[in-house]
Amino acid sequence: MSNNITKLLRATFLIVIFFNVTTNASQLTPQQITKVLKESYEKFKDDNRGKNADYIKALAEVNSSIFAISIVSASGDIYEIGNTKEVVSIQSISKVFTLALVMSEKGPKFIQEKIGVNATGLPFNSIIAIEQHNGSASNPFVNAGAIQTTSWVKADNSAQRWKKIKNNMEKFAGEKLDLNAPVYKSEVNDNKRNQAIATLLEANGRMGSDPLKATTIYTKQCALNVSSHNLAIMASVLANHGVNPVTKKSVIDSNLTPKIMSIMQTAGLYDNAGEWLYETGLPAKSGVGGGILAVVPGKFGIGVISPRLDEYGNSVRAQEAISYIVKKLNLNPLAQ
Ligand code: GLU
Repeated sequence: MSNNITKLLRATFLIVIFFNVTTNASQLTPQQITKVLKESYEKFKDDNRGKNADYIKALAEVNSSIFAISIVSASGDIYEIGNTKEVVSIQSISKVFTLALVMSEKGPKFIQEKIGVNATGLPFNSIIAIEQHNGSASNPFVNAGAIQTTSWVKADNSAQRWKKIKNNMEKFAGEKLDLNAPVYKSEVNDNKRNQAIATLLEANGRMGSDPLKATTIYTKQCALNVSSHNLAIMASVLANHGVNPVTKKSVIDSNLTPKIMSIMQTAGLYDNAGEWLYETGLPAKSGVGGGILAVVPGKFGIGVISPRLDEYGNSVRAQEAISYIVKKLNLNPLAQ
């Protein structure tokens, strides 16, 4: 008899533990999210490590104290802290959205075969990486692959191609995005290296349209302004299987979001992507303007802006803030 009671108590205890674990992982309250958001902001707001990118001259002049964190749930709830309306140029993060556009037009196989979906293990603007990989860019998030992707957007001319790229990013953001003219001017007159990369890819038969014109449009897409608020909403579209949870509009086919996020996991944080994945498990993309967006699949989009970068070109405080939030709220998808 007493043996049976012990067994019953043990079973009840196990059920209670199981129930607690599952509720913690899947049902976060707004209070829990707000608390952790505040904690991460307070913890890292005085972290001054790193410095603005300066190889694009206008980026060196961006206010490096901007710090903003936004989280948007897959059902459209928004949690934010800091200068969430301050904008910086989107830079490399734009590569995610032009990839989404070309993948929608040409299918995932085309991306895999024509551009590649592997990490290079080399810096984002590497020319050696192209030479080492049979004249291919390796993936759409290094400059070579991104310029190539831009060149493949279906259009009759550059003006039409630019319009499609901008419209597409605005659908992800759910609002208009402005061009940062000083950043664009500063880079477009100084992008010989990207032009060289595009010309080399053209020589290898990998470009979809004129390499120099594609480089100019790529430079322009990198100069669109975004806030942490914009980035979190853009990321939430990927978290929500292709539907913008704020505008409720469908932006991309749900079959494509896992493909895009897998490349974000492999190559989203330049040649430090492995360390990032090891820490957080999240698909993410950073830009030298100081932004990072990260996706918690099925749950949240996160956007952070903080212009000071580490030696890989990733925002120091954005990485810290997101890692903290992931740990505290148990958001690592590989731990679910
Ligand atoms: N427009 C920048 C470049 O091509 C983007 C780099 C980045 O954010 O990684 O160098």
